[in-house]
Formats: sequence, structure tokens, C-alpha cells
Amino acid sequence: MSTLTVLNPATEEPLVELPEAGVEEANRAVAAAKSSFPGWRAVAPADRGRLLRRLATLVEENREELALLETRNVGKPIGDSRGEVGMVADVFHFYAGAVDKHHGETIPVAGGVDFTLREPLGVVGLIVPWNFPIAISSWKLGPALACGNTVVLKPAELTPLTAQRLGELALEAGLPEGVVNVVVGPGRIVGQRLVEHPDVAKIGFTGSTEVGRKVMEGAAGTIRTSTLADPPRLVLDVARPTEPAAREGREQRGPLKMIVLDAGHGGHDSGALGPTGLMEKDLVLDVTRRVAKLVEERLGIKVRLTRDADHFVTLRDRTSFANRERADLFVSIHANAHRETAADGVETYFLSSEATDSAARQVAALENGVVQLEQPSGRPSGQVDIVRAILWDLAQSEFQTESSRLAEVVHDSMTQSLRISNRGVKQAGFYVLGGAAMPAILIEIGFVTNPREERRLKETKYRDEIARAILAGLAEYKRAWDQRARAAAEPPSMTRAR
Ligand SMILES: [Zn+2]
Repeated sequence: MSTLTVLNPATEEPLVELPEAGVEEANRAVAAAKSSFPGWRAVAPADRGRLLRRLATLVEENREELALLETRNVGKPIGDSRGEVGMVADVFHFYAGAVDKHHGETIPVAGGVDFTLREPLGVVGLIVPWNFPIAISSWKLGPALACGNTVVLKPAELTPLTAQRLGELALEAGLPEGVVNVVVGPGRIVGQRLVEHPDVAKIGFTGSTEVGRKVMEGAAGTIRTSTLADPPRLVLDVARPTEPAAREGREQRGPLKMIVLDAGHGGHDSGALGPTGLMEKDLVLDVTRRVAKLVEERLGIKVRLTRDADHFVTLRDRTSFANRERADLFVSIHANAHRETAADGVETYFLSSEATDSAARQVAALENGVVQLEQPSGRPSGQVDIVRAILWDLAQSEFQTESSRLAEVVHDSMTQSLRISNRGVKQAGFYVLGGAAMPAILIEIGFVTNPREERRLKETKYRDEIARAILAGLAEYKRAWDQRARAAAEPPSMTRAR
């Protein structure tokens, strides 16, 4: 086992050498938490509360030691650390008091009552960052333990010392061995193992936008359908910039110059299939080419295609391409399918982890199914990618307002000129939109499974109409975009002058 040197960031001098945990140690910690779970959940709530109260008292008694440790390891002023340790004690006191007051509900229903029963999940993985190690550890430990879960706590490897000390104090307070397990090791190994471990029922994770950005910009990893299965679940508290200035600055970066158009599917992935054999992949490639030509000619915008031939492109590569090209917009073009052949019309989507309704969720599931066609021999699909999937989703949610505006404009244009059923603008969790670092939408131009629509969608003339409708929407969106860009470029005194 390799060792980890923990530094004092103020002096850069080593504080302590620790054994560095890896996959094996993470597995062992999870196993310990798992075997202690039945015993811990069986502890009477009042007794669990008593033990947490004792832990709170121990934190108070050791306040100065914990504060010094935090200051030496994190490099923050001692006054801050003392305040934070005081808060940690308060947190444990609070949850100690909550243990026997946290009930389900009885709900009157016709003919009797229903009730809800709150139960612990089992082993909970807690991943804590370097900036407030002991405080954030307590926010996660308190509720998890109060509810009868056992935990594996992974502090940042830069700042593990107070988390380790909390683990010792938990034992001293009388919490049974194996209820609180602290593993110190790199996030990409130990954190990832916790996230993918089949015996970990829930992850509590606090991380930075930095990580999100890296994942988004870099050669970001794959996203697989199995990753959002339930359980496990993941809670992300991501610190995000709140100053409006920073956000507007990002949105206003000059006139709209470049769009990436994405023809869905391709190669061995034919997409939806019509009753007389029309394949979504061929239809949308043709329409996408028509849109590209029109947009370049009429709007003077550069257009790049994620594919211009009949070959397979992974979902990740589609948005990575748009990110690399620094595209202003990402527009994915698809055609719909439904087992009821009568289903018809146009719908336009922007990304959101919340689906508008179950029909929207089904469309997303259908399109997301593509990931199963990616690299059949690759890494086994795992929960490793949950974090990535959610970070990608967060990345795109930065642009959610703009994406919904773009969706509205394009969708209006399509339904007005195509004389076709308007299924509306919707939101759902499309993986293909998730990695895009720009406003992004997905258009379902019609149902190839509807015989009437399939017939129309085969016509060159109708495909041109669709392309022109999309062009008109993009043109209108560009006008608004460019106007805002001009307004932002003007000095404030001029925009106020009348
Ligand atoms: Zn599709």
C-alpha cells in the first residue's frame, strides 16, 4: 500500500504520512459498514439519539484540538475553524434530537388509512471536499447516522485529518465498530469505487464546478443508460457562481457565428423505422444537410455536422465535437417513433433532468437507448458514470434558459409553417444534449411510425419545407442573440441614453 503525505498548506511541510487507500480498502470499508448495518438499524431510536448526543459532546470537549487540526490541514484562520467545529457539535445535537421525531405519515384514504414508513437505506458513501472538511462531514454524517444508515466517509485526500478524528470520536462515543468508516485515498479511485460499489445504497457528494467543467471540456467519459438506475442515487451540492455578472459575461460573447447540426443515429444504429422501411438515420441526415446548406447561404453562419455520412457516432462524440468547435448552438435532429401508429406531429426538446411528463420521458429513453449500441466490448456498464452523467446534465443546465428559448423559437416556426400537429416544447433528459456547453435542443421532426407522416417525410419537397422552417426559427433566434450581443458590447452610458 502506498503512502500519502498530508501537508500543512501554509508551510508546505508534511504533517503526517498516511497509508493511501485504494479499491481494496474501499471494499473493506463497505463490507464493514454492510455487516454493521443490521445491528445499527436495530438500535432503539432513543439510544441512537443518545449516542449521537455523546458524539456532539465529544466534539465540544475536543473543540480546540479539532480546530487546530483543521487549521493546520486546511490553512484557514483558527477563528474560522473554531466556529466551524462549534457548528459541527450543533449539527450532531440537532440530529440527535431528530432521531425519535422523524416519522412517516398516516394518510386518510377511502375506507381507511395509508401510512408511510421511513427506513434506512443501508450503506451510504459520503464524499467530502477540501474546503470545509469537518463541517461538510458532519452535515452528511448527522442525518445518515440518525436515520440508521452506516457510512463510509471519504474526505479529500488533501484534508483528511479531522474526518479521521471524527471517526475515532464516533467510536469513543460508543457507536458500534463499522458504523462510521473513514477511507483516505484519491477520489478517482476510492470515490469512484464507492460510487460503483453494488452494496452502497446512496452517495452524498459535494464537489466543485471545477470538476464539472473539466469533465465537460476534457475528453469526457461515456454515459450509459444503466447509470441512472435506482438505486444508487447521487446527491450533488455543487457550488455554483451566483453573481449574475459572471453568467451574463459568458452568454454575451459576440454575434452568433457557428452552429453544430447533429443528424441523429447512423451506421448500425438505424433509429426509428417506418412501416414501409423509412429509416430515421437516412431521413434526418438528409434533412440536416438541407438545413446546413440553407443556414450557411442565408444566415452566413458556419455550420459543422457531427456526421455527414451513414456512420455511427457516439452521443459523447457529438457534443464533444460541438464543444471543441466552440459552437454557439447545438441542434440535434431526429424523427419520432411510437407503438401507436396514429401518433403524429412535431416536438422540440431541451435538456432537463426533470421530464415534462411520462411521454417525454419515454421519448428520451428511446433516444438514449443508443448508448447500448456503443462499444459493446468496452468497459462493463457501471455506476462509475453516474457522477459524469449528472455533471454533464448540470453543465447543460447552465444553458437551460437559452436552450428553452431556442426550442420555443424553432418549434413555433416549425408548427406554423408545416401545418402539422403541435406536440409542444418539452424537457427531458437526453444524453446527447447533456455534454453540450452551449444552448442545445433536439427536434423530433415527425413520426416515421405513422404511415401518413412516413409518406410525407419521404418527399423531397416536404423535407425542404422542414429545413426552411428550422432555418426560419434559427434566423429569428440569431436576430435576438445578435441584438443582445450588440447591447452588451455598447458602453453602459450609451445604452441608457435616449
Ligand atoms: Zn432519434
